[in-house]
Amino acid sequence: MKNPSTDTLKVLFAASEAEPFVKVGGLGDVAGTLPDALVSYFKKTPNLPTLDFRLFIPFHSKIPASKFHIEKLCTIDVPTNRDPIPAHIYLNSDLTYPVYLIAGEPLPADGPVYDPNPVVDGKKFSFFSLAVLEYCRQNTWIPDILHANDWHTALLPHLIRERNEYKDLFSRTKTLLSVHNLPFMGGGSQAGLLEMGIKPSKDFRLPKWSKHMPLPMGLAASDRILAVSPGYAREMLTPEYGCGLDGFLFTVTEKLGGILNGLDTTLWDPSHDPLLVKNYSSYTIAKRAKNKEEILTRLGLEYEPRTPLIIMVTRIDQQKGIDIALKALESIMERKFQLIILGVGDPTLEDACKALEELYPERVRFLQRFDQTLSHQLYSSGDIILIPSRYEPCGLTQMISMRYGCVPVARNTGGLSDTIIDTSPDNGQTGFLFQETTPESCARAIERALNMFINQDIWLRIQKNGMKMDFSWKKSAEKYANEYLSLRKQ
Ligand code: ADP
Repeated sequence: MKNPSTDTLKVLFAASEAEPFVKVGGLGDVAGTLPDALVSYFKKTPNLPTLDFRLFIPFHSKIPASKFHIEKLCTIDVPTNRDPIPAHIYLNSDLTYPVYLIAGEPLPADGPVYDPNPVVDGKKFSFFSLAVLEYCRQNTWIPDILHANDWHTALLPHLIRERNEYKDLFSRTKTLLSVHNLPFMGGGSQAGLLEMGIKPSKDFRLPKWSKHMPLPMGLAASDRILAVSPGYAREMLTPEYGCGLDGFLFTVTEKLGGILNGLDTTLWDPSHDPLLVKNYSSYTIAKRAKNKEEILTRLGLEYEPRTPLIIMVTRIDQQKGIDIALKALESIMERKFQLIILGVGDPTLEDACKALEELYPERVRFLQRFDQTLSHQLYSSGDIILIPSRYEPCGLTQMISMRYGCVPVARNTGGLSDTIIDTSPDNGQTGFLFQETTPESCARAIERALNMFINQDIWLRIQKNGMKMDFSWKKSAEKYANEYLSLRKQ
């Protein structure tokens, strides 16, 4: 334990979703895991300030309030362009850091976390952002660091620089905006922002079409922009991945960086995972076979140890390159392999998965559902996982699969490039990468993996290399802590 420090670092972390309260996607994982890793890092590391970390999330109707101890703190008025709207502030103190939940009329009583109507979400997240700042103002709790995430909370850095009532108060607050997914900028939400009295950005560097979208507004106003992997940070500067903001981002490269997300290594641990038929570690990897045998038998497929099992655990979505994978696999059906796809999403792509299963019922299964248990079992049984994403800001599946000894064949992009090593088995190889978003490029990489699989000695080395990688949140938390500390110094 370190000595208590008199110096305190105040961090306001805002996100639209966070485990264990509400999770729709990867952002919920990050906002649910990074805070605890940060708190623990600051506690255990000598010579760091004391961390006063507070998480703010909207009190979505989807949050099962009865499962948590939630107390009401107060009701405050949030300014709009007409009459103020009351915001009800709640507190949960069950975790290692306080969580503030904000409710009010713009968050519909039975609405989804993300509404299909962007105007509804525009108003909801504008209201949330203003309520956060109003709460801080009224309680004279002014953070040193304001850490926002994606478009939903990107208005926060904009508001503290633009709004007269907050400018002076937050003048010493440094802002950091994490980009989990650049294409989602909050387009179409402008009417919702205007209702809350929020005007477009005046930053001349932003393209005209983007000045009224929350994410670009936040990117322009933030002191630091962090993508969820260094690879994605670099790619955002290119026309292919920059979504029209690459020119703007190029003008602010000095404030752009990337930190890989971590993995919950307690949840994802093959040696203790209660959902597996057989637990194993990198020392007892031979036991994996039992998992493969069980799942293949359960799904009515033949178990034959020398036949590689390719798996996919994924949203069935264009981004994930499902079309590329299916075409690639179809082009090499003369090779020996079995295939199990677990996923839901785009109906057209789902139909294409079904069609492949119907064509090859003796070796292909498409499991059209979201199934946590099955996903764990597949990671522990598959020999190869296919991840042909068109873009991948960070990606969790490759980290999970490597930890479970399932070797990734993946597109060389974003977080996949940063986490998968494709050199040679003796130089720490953990997987196989391909460059082009074409079935041919993907098929060649699958074939490279299938050829390697025949030599089980080498394959074992690749599996073990992956299982030994450190994807823990501890590493990422240290990097975020350094970001906070160096930002505060600026
Ligand atoms: P993204 O967040 O873009 O969907 P990631 O690779 O970052 O992709 O994370 C996907 C997460 O969702 C992983 O934990 C993966 O195991 C899980 N997942 C995806 N599809 C399914 C499914 N059909 N059933 C169970 N888990 C799934």
